[in-house]
Amino acid sequence: VSDDTPPVAALFDAVVGQKAAVDALRAAARRPVHAYLLHGPPGSGTRAAALGFAAALLCPDGGCGTCRHCRRALAGTHPDLVVVERTGASLGVDEARRLVGLAQRRPLEAARQVLMVTDVHLATRAAPALLKTVEEPPGATVFVLLAEDVPPELVTVASRCVEVAFPPVPATAVEAWLVGRGVESERARLLASSSGGNLDRARLLAEDPGSVERLALWQSVPGRLDGTGARAAELARALLASAEEALEPLRAEHARDLGAAEEEAASLGERGLPGRKELTDRQHREERRWRTDELRAGLAALARTYRDSLLVTVGGPTGSVPAGRTVGAERAARAVGLISEAAASLRRNPNETLLLEALLIRLGSLDA
Ligand SMILES: [Zn+2]
Repeated sequence: VSDDTPPVAALFDAVVGQKAAVDALRAAARRPVHAYLLHGPPGSGTRAAALGFAAALLCPDGGCGTCRHCRRALAGTHPDLVVVERTGASLGVDEARRLVGLAQRRPLEAARQVLMVTDVHLATRAAPALLKTVEEPPGATVFVLLAEDVPPELVTVASRCVEVAFPPVPATAVEAWLVGRGVESERARLLASSSGGNLDRARLLAEDPGSVERLALWQSVPGRLDGTGARAAELARALLASAEEALEPLRAEHARDLGAAEEEAASLGERGLPGRKELTDRQHREERRWRTDELRAGLAALARTYRDSLLVTVGGPTGSVPAGRTVGAERAARAVGLISEAAASLRRNPNETLLLEALLIRLGSLDA
């Protein structure tokens, strides 16, 4: 870090497109209360922001960005930053007790300690324990809870915290971030629109040579539909296979993470990896979500295709539909409507093959 780097800005350098949230945390660090809840969807930057916030809370200068306290907090290795990872489906009694014990611990090096608890939205069953811990922490502890959302069970816990919301990262900010990482601008624009405001997803898409091709497959759909069920089924299969392909980089990353965790456990003399099931369960959840995100991004690209070109030539290579028929504005609007309905029903864990086939049949017959 060079001397002319704005010191406080450096704390939140890893947080992209979240000015309001970062401003709120900067202000809060000057006069902290005892508990904060940072909530936002995956890839919105809550975790990076929490580390920056912890640095501001632990640094004797309120977050200079360069001292030992700041640097270790940002790296997640400060002895007074305790990170409690929520990996299982619920916060166990033992873990809740551990939290109570941790909250009473005295800071080792800094004037206070920061207790960061991740994935609090999964800890619904432990809400009472969590509430008790958060309600009356010893003065030297600041809780920083991270959650993807605030389910009803956690509303009371949330009410005891200062809430800082992280909306999905705006596409323009994702795009600029990708360009800053060396991604070519047209590709960055496309990937940003496909990221759904999730920076982790944008990063993996940028590393994935197949991502643009997969989007192109979705965009090619209107031109390939011929109104037959056979064509709809064939395209649905191809689209689902591409979503499966999209999972490969994430699976590779997960395998690396698991390997690293196993290695670390072995170096500590553990037999096997403690919490292995929780880790792999979490990875599987992320993979399922990734797949859904991929399908949703594909449907969005498909909708954009209809929207962008109000004149779409339909007619497949089979020639069963005369080439040159056009879909006008009204039909494009109907197509977009059908696609958003399908995207909305993805949340209900449908049979994806049936969902896509039905959608494609309806899209294909819009013009019939
Ligand atoms: Zn500092």
